[in-house]
Amino acid sequence: MLKLDFHPSGRHFLQIPGPSPVPDRILRAMSLPTIDHRGPEFAVLAFKVIADMQKIFQTQHPVMIYPASGTGAWEAALVNTLSVGDHVLMYETGQFATLWNKLATRLGIKTEFIGMPGSEGWRHGVQADLIEARLKADTNHTIKAVCVVHNETSTGVTSDIPAVRRAMDNAKHPALLLVDTVSGLAAIDYRHDAWGVDVTVGGSQKGLMLPPGLGFNALSPKAIEASKKSTMPKSFWAWDEMIEFNKTGYFPSTPNTNLLYGLSEACDMILGQGLEVVFKRHKRWSDGACAAVTAWGLPIQCADPALHSPILTGVMTPEGVDADAVRKVIYERFDCSLGTGLGKVKGRMFRIGHLGDCNDLTVIAAVSACEMGLKLSGVKLAGSGVQAAMDYFSAHPVPALIR
Ligand SMILES: *Cc1c(COP(=O)(O)O)cnc(C)c1O
Repeated sequence: MLKLDFHPSGRHFLQIPGPSPVPDRILRAMSLPTIDHRGPEFAVLAFKVIADMQKIFQTQHPVMIYPASGTGAWEAALVNTLSVGDHVLMYETGQFATLWNKLATRLGIKTEFIGMPGSEGWRHGVQADLIEARLKADTNHTIKAVCVVHNETSTGVTSDIPAVRRAMDNAKHPALLLVDTVSGLAAIDYRHDAWGVDVTVGGSQKGLMLPPGLGFNALSPKAIEASKKSTMPKSFWAWDEMIEFNKTGYFPSTPNTNLLYGLSEACDMILGQGLEVVFKRHKRWSDGACAAVTAWGLPIQCADPALHSPILTGVMTPEGVDADAVRKVIYERFDCSLGTGLGKVKGRMFRIGHLGDCNDLTVIAAVSACEMGLKLSGVKLAGSGVQAAMDYFSAHPVPALIR
């Protein structure tokens, strides 16, 4: 049994793809005193974080901020736009798409879960042509929404959201486009308005580098119109009250003030550096991690290099090697947490997170923990991933600002 006051020396390596390591600057910002959420100072904070989040989502339209995890924001997106019995098309990219589908079903939505057969879809992104064909066949327009995950955190595969938008436009179908970018937000390029997304779902504990506890919905005018006709029961999640209160700088119920201090600080860091720079930084870490896995001679869960997630790398273990047993060795011997394989790929792969308070050397350290753990687990490696990562980062110098 671990004791709760277990404090190993040095920093724990939290290399899971969320919650991500929180920069000290953000932790310090969160330690400010809690203020009156109906007082004058609060509105200053609220207006700032809402405007900052519009920049992060790349939208001109309202952004809802809930005291909730990403799952709450998933629910908010559905209950505000749909009605019980509505038919919705969802695409299976991995475990998070599966969980969103399950949540929709529990709400009384009739979901159609499409994708590639077996676990093959868990190595690829959304095939937009499958969506286009299905929507073209839906001549009565019974499908009310299409739901896709932008960065599938269970596999480390991204999906081409503009391609999904084009597929819907080619089919001349009026369904809403709902996208989950909980783990991509503020780490991978995402454009709510330009990509024609109706509701984008986000969360705090991944690319935004905050602790868990904030969930977001970015809205489109079409989504707001749909919310006026939606009859799904809702109160806490209802956009209408939130939009009205937010106009004055307040929230209908008590917001998590200290997380909003953290959010303000995170946005200062991210927007101060510039989104483009932040995106490049994550891409570079993933390239370094990929170079390591390739040097080990192990397959990467994402079968399409162009879609490889900038924030995590899924490593498939050889047949007969339990990925969770490897993770356990790495945790116990080297104080490094890695993401477990979820759902269909449980025990078959583990995930290295490279997001949050991270840099070249933390990526190399995580890779070294994996390399030692794999060897201790009896896995024969083709070569050194640590060397490959060091070579990659050395050969790809970046201006200081990219850090
Ligand atoms: C983390 C995550 C969620 C939300 O999970 P919570 O545990 O409720 O915060 C949803 N979708 C994706 C893709 C995620 O990575």
